[in-house]
Amino acid sequence: MSTLNVKKVGTGFLLEYGDVRLALDTGVKGETTLLSHSHADHIGGLKKANHIIATSGTFDTWGARGNNAFKNKTVIRTGDMFGQIGVNITALNAGHVLGSTMFYLEFNDGLRVLYTGDFNTVDSLVHRAAKAVEADVLITEATYGKPEWIFPKRQGVYDNILDTATEMLDEGRIPLFSAYSLGKSQEAIALLQSGGFRIVSGNTSINKVCSVYKNHGVDLRHYTLSSPGVSDILDEGAVIVSSSIRHTLHNLRKIIEKKTMRDLEARLEKYSLSGWTLGKFRERGFPLSAHTDFNGLIEFAKAVNPRVAYVFTGNAPEFSEHLSGEGINAVPLE
Ligand SMILES: [Zn+2]
Repeated sequence: MSTLNVKKVGTGFLLEYGDVRLALDTGVKGETTLLSHSHADHIGGLKKANHIIATSGTFDTWGARGNNAFKNKTVIRTGDMFGQIGVNITALNAGHVLGSTMFYLEFNDGLRVLYTGDFNTVDSLVHRAAKAVEADVLITEATYGKPEWIFPKRQGVYDNILDTATEMLDEGRIPLFSAYSLGKSQEAIALLQSGGFRIVSGNTSINKVCSVYKNHGVDLRHYTLSSPGVSDILDEGAVIVSSSIRHTLHNLRKIIEKKTMRDLEARLEKYSLSGWTLGKFRERGFPLSAHTDFNGLIEFAKAVNPRVAYVFTGNAPEFSEHLSGEGINAVPLE
């Protein structure tokens, strides 16, 4: 049997096994890249890649964020297998953002490797939960890989967000939920829409990604800063979803006259939607995360039941120790 090597390269990894070399979430000259999703911390150096394999959701969100199309790409559907010399590659749903994928690799001699990218094992309004499959080697993220990161039930978080939005509007305030533009904003919009709120998207980047979600069958309805009468809509009672409060306010100032804008800013109530809101230096907000929490990471790894786990992201060393405590040989990849 060959030796498996996994090493950190740029925003991702280079995996080598026998004659097979695959780049994961990074570009390596002359090699094929498996792209799990199009968040900025997974797309470094992709221009160098010889060939990119990803879902249409990933390619479409990549394009919506202002990137040039790839010349040599293969669109893989979730659940489908793509064969190349020495390895079969299957795309599995990662539950993180639109199109997000875990890659399951079966090498010719039978070795099975699962690469998670970023993943979430909990269903959300717009993304289905990732499911574990057994593999000999697991390469897993550990963003929330410490026991202090345990998220409350999603429905409870949803209810708290909707209740807060209602209360604030009743008091004449304007709730603003900050959420990154790919994935979290769309979940926030779907949630607020389910609560019957009028929603103003505060950033063009959110609007563009929402269009991709709509093309992929997700029903999202919102106003934009260029919708006619947006000032009146906000004045009468609407919630804002923003991926950059600074840009949202800057653009609002261009369309709303000074005094009205001052009044509007004084009525804003800002909330962050992020797992990190549970942390020590927490901002006001709600722990809505697109990642698996600590317990989810442990349960997932146990279900994969690997001989060895490679762990990446900031909490990799500590999470590796926890996996070792569960009887899984684990190595941080930092
Ligand atoms: Zn991500």
